[in-house]
Amino acid sequence: MNTERYRIAEPRKVDLKRFPTGGEGQVSKDEIRGRLLPANVRRMADLQERLFAENTRSLLVVLQAMDAAGKDGVIRHVMSGINPQGVQVVNFKAPSAEENDQTYLWRVARALPRRGEIGVFNRSHYEDVLVARVHDLVRRSQFPQDLVTDDFWERRYRQIRDFERYLVENGTAVVKFFLHVSKDEQRGRLLSRITEPDKHWKFSRTDTDERQHWDEYQQAYELMLGSTSAPEAPWYVVPADDKWFTRLVVSQVVRDTLEAMDPQYPELASEEREAMEECRRILEEDGGK
Ligand code: ATP
Ligand code: MG
Repeated sequence: MNTERYRIAEPRKVDLKRFPTGGEGQVSKDEIRGRLLPANVRRMADLQERLFAENTRSLLVVLQAMDAAGKDGVIRHVMSGINPQGVQVVNFKAPSAEENDQTYLWRVARALPRRGEIGVFNRSHYEDVLVARVHDLVRRSQFPQDLVTDDFWERRYRQIRDFERYLVENGTAVVKFFLHVSKDEQRGRLLSRITEPDKHWKFSRTDTDERQHWDEYQQAYELMLGSTSAPEAPWYVVPADDKWFTRLVVSQVVRDTLEAMDPQYPELASEEREAMEECRRILEEDGGK
């Protein structure tokens, strides 16, 4: 499947209305569930094992979305086949007092994947240019107010671009997803958290409150996407009204990213090879005694 139409790989003006929220009947749910997604997951698992063995590079996957867009399902279904030792999922909530005592990239830097690992950020440093912008949180924080200038958000976008380029230049590939759900579909999903008892645990009053700021969020997303897309750290605006289609697109992009990284099992040095042969002799001579 070609995922290029969802990619933004350079700074430009972004109009979210021009990006589809639906799968447009491209592939059936059964086809995705039964065949396409499992195939991608199997291949990802193989590539991830190589990445882990290679132990030099890492992959950072960023997930951003409005509430109920399906981040959790993507994590569950796309990362399912992968050895849990090699994947770390990190959820970013509103910052703690300790985190607020630091600059905003501090907690992010601490949570980055180690060499050989895949890191999945369920929300991320992007919240600091999204919820922080919509609710003007910087004005009500410990942040030095004389540094809140007119170009404050532009500077933050630039800091994020620099930070991500730094990661890429040091061996961490970066790929970012915005799960693009329609306002109508979100309404249905939030309602189902009320009408279906086994979804009650997902219910949160804040989701309905945040929905009141829908347009402001879409605008904050557009500005952020337009300013933080880069060839080395592209954004994908993934249709999110059809859950299985969302999972297919994300799995395809992650798979393609890993294919492009082309991780290799390390070659043994000649001394290691000799040591291995020595051990073979010992084990074979042992002959089950
Ligand atoms: P769901 O989509 O199922 O509701 P979720 O990702 O929204 O899952 P929650 O625990 O409901 O998970 O929400 C986390 C909250 O933390 C979000 O409302 C988010 O905006 C907030 N948050 C994350 N990072 C920051 C930040 N840097 N500053 C302020 N709020 C933040
Ligand atoms: Mg939430």
